[in-house]
Amino acid sequence: MRYSDSLVELIGNTPLVRLRHTAGTADPGPLVLAKVEYFNPGGSVKDRIAVRMIDAAEQSGELRPGGTIVEPTSGNTGIGLAIVAQQRGYHCVFVCPDKVSGDKVDALRAYGAEVVVCPTAVDPADPRSYYSVSDRLARETPGGWKPNQYANVNNPRSHYETTGPELWEQTDGRITHFVAGVGTGGTISGTGRYLKEVSGGRVQIIGADPEGSVYSGGTGRPYLVEGVGEDFWPDTYDRTICDRIVAVSDADSFAMTRRLAREEGLLVGGSCGMAVVAAAEVAKHAGPDDVVVVLLPDGGRGYLSKIFNDTWLSDYGFVDTPGEETIGDVLR
Ligand code: PMP
Repeated sequence: MRYSDSLVELIGNTPLVRLRHTAGTADPGPLVLAKVEYFNPGGSVKDRIAVRMIDAAEQSGELRPGGTIVEPTSGNTGIGLAIVAQQRGYHCVFVCPDKVSGDKVDALRAYGAEVVVCPTAVDPADPRSYYSVSDRLARETPGGWKPNQYANVNNPRSHYETTGPELWEQTDGRITHFVAGVGTGGTISGTGRYLKEVSGGRVQIIGADPEGSVYSGGTGRPYLVEGVGEDFWPDTYDRTICDRIVAVSDADSFAMTRRLAREEGLLVGGSCGMAVVAAAEVAKHAGPDDVVVVLLPDGGRGYLSKIFNDTWLSDYGFVDTPGEETIGDVLR
C-alpha cells in the first residue's frame, strides 16, 4: 500500500508543466515551465512556509503542545497554518480586516480555525486594527504564538530548503531564469538564493510586482492583484536577490489569469497571471537553450467572483461591455 500518514507529508514536490500558449516567444524560443503550487494540500505555496515555521517553533519551544497560533492573515497562509495546526493539535486564531470576503473567512473556519474580524478603516496603530488585535491576542492567549510571516526567517528558509532544490532537480540543473511574484518576498528570496548558490550565480532571478508596489519603485499605491506587492519593505525580502523586477498592471495580470484558465487549463489566482506576464517578457529576450520557470502560487477558485466575473471586472473599469467583450479579448 502507498499512502501518506498525514496530509502534511504531501506539502511540496509540486509538478512543473510547460506553458504551451501563454508565454509565446519567438521561434525557436526558450522552454517556459510553470511550477504549479495549487497541488499543495492547502491549495497554495503557503503550505510550505506554514509547516516550516511551525516545525521551527516546536523545536525552539515557542510553540508548545496544545498551543494557539495567532496570525493576521485572511488567505493562503491561514489555510496552510490551519491544516498543519489541526494535524498536530494546535488551535488557530486568525485576525482579518473586514474587507476580506465571507468565503475566505468561511474557508478558514471550515478547517477549524477561529476568525476575528476587525475594521479596515482604522489606523494600524489603533487598538481595533487587525495588527493591534493580533498582537494583543498573541500576547494574552495562554500558549499563544505568532508566526509573523513578514519577519520569520523560516519563511524564506522553507523555499531555500524545498522549492529551490525541487526546481534544480526537476530541470536537471538546466533552469536559467526563475520568475516569481513578490509578497513577503519569502518565495523569491529563498528559492533565488538556493538557485544562485547551486548554479554559481548563473540562474537569473526575476521578481514580478504589481504597478504601484514598493518593490518596483512605487509608493504603495493601491492595486487589485492579491497576495503580492507591499507598501513597506518586509524583513523576509532579500533586496540583493533579484536581477530584475518587472512591474505588471492589474489589467495585464487579470487578462493573463483568464488566458491561463482558457488556454492552458490552469485555473489560478491573479498573482499567477501577473507572474506569467513577467515570464513572457523574460522569455522574449531569452535564447532557445534557456529554461524559464515561473511559480504559480495558488488556484483560481477563490477568485471566481472577482477576476473571472465580467461584472466585477467592468465595475473596476477593465471591461467595456459586460458579457460581450471580456478583458482577455480587449487586451489580447
Ligand atoms: N501570490 C499569492 C496569492 C500569495 O498569497 C502570496 C503570498 N503573500 C504570494 C503570491 C507571494 O509570495 P511571497 O509572500 O513568498 O513573496
